[in-house]
Amino acid sequence: MNGLTIALSKGRIFEETRPLLAAAGIEPAEDPESSRKLIIGTNRPEVRIIIVRASDVPTYVQHGGADIGIAGRDVLMEHGGQGLYQPLDLGIARCRLMVAVRQDFDYASAVRRGARLKVATKYLKVAREHFAAKGVHVDLIKLYGSMELAPLVGMSDAIVDVVSSGNTLKANHLVAVEEIAQISARLVVNQASLKLKRAELKFVMDAFARVSTPLDADPVLP
Ligand code: AMP
Repeated sequence: MNGLTIALSKGRIFEETRPLLAAAGIEPAEDPESSRKLIIGTNRPEVRIIIVRASDVPTYVQHGGADIGIAGRDVLMEHGGQGLYQPLDLGIARCRLMVAVRQDFDYASAVRRGARLKVATKYLKVAREHFAAKGVHVDLIKLYGSMELAPLVGMSDAIVDVVSSGNTLKANHLVAVEEIAQISARLVVNQASLKLKRAELKFVMDAFARVSTPLDADPVLP
């Protein structure tokens, strides 16, 4: 496929990516919130945007369905990042990946007593690694959304989820007890595209790099 395909998710990532795209001279032709189209053109004939689930962005880029994408660090930690080049922290869609429990649950003493915790989350890999590193035994329950509900109905002792303002936790009488990671969105690049589409990628990556933080010492593209 000639040209450049960019994988984005609707909502916060799309909205906060708009100024970055504008810095690269790219204007989406439609708004994914009102359009049902999954492929959106742009003012640049060689650039198109595909709209996918946030957790599918790394998969589309890994398998060449898109050349580049923007995904939260939470999503990348859970995916594993195989086959992806991650050159830039874009500093957008900031939040924190946290362990949270009911306000009346004594997490510290449950952990101290060596209790076996039930943890509901969509981040199975991240949660497994986090609690294994602490030596805490957990039974993991996979959910796809509304994790906050699980402790309220007695299904789990804790959840692992992203927290932004903390309002959702508060409204549901939950409290964050541990931070797993600080999250922001990153640019991910397909490794074959990096070699085969250097010129097309360079203008986008240079424009994004002007407004974000490099993640390693490598030059973005020489
Ligand atoms: P808040 O009430 O502001 O703490 O937001 C928490 C809710 O929004 C949770 O249900 C999260 O799943 C979701 N959320 C917050 N920030 C993000 C983000 N950067 N990316 C994805 N989901 C988020």
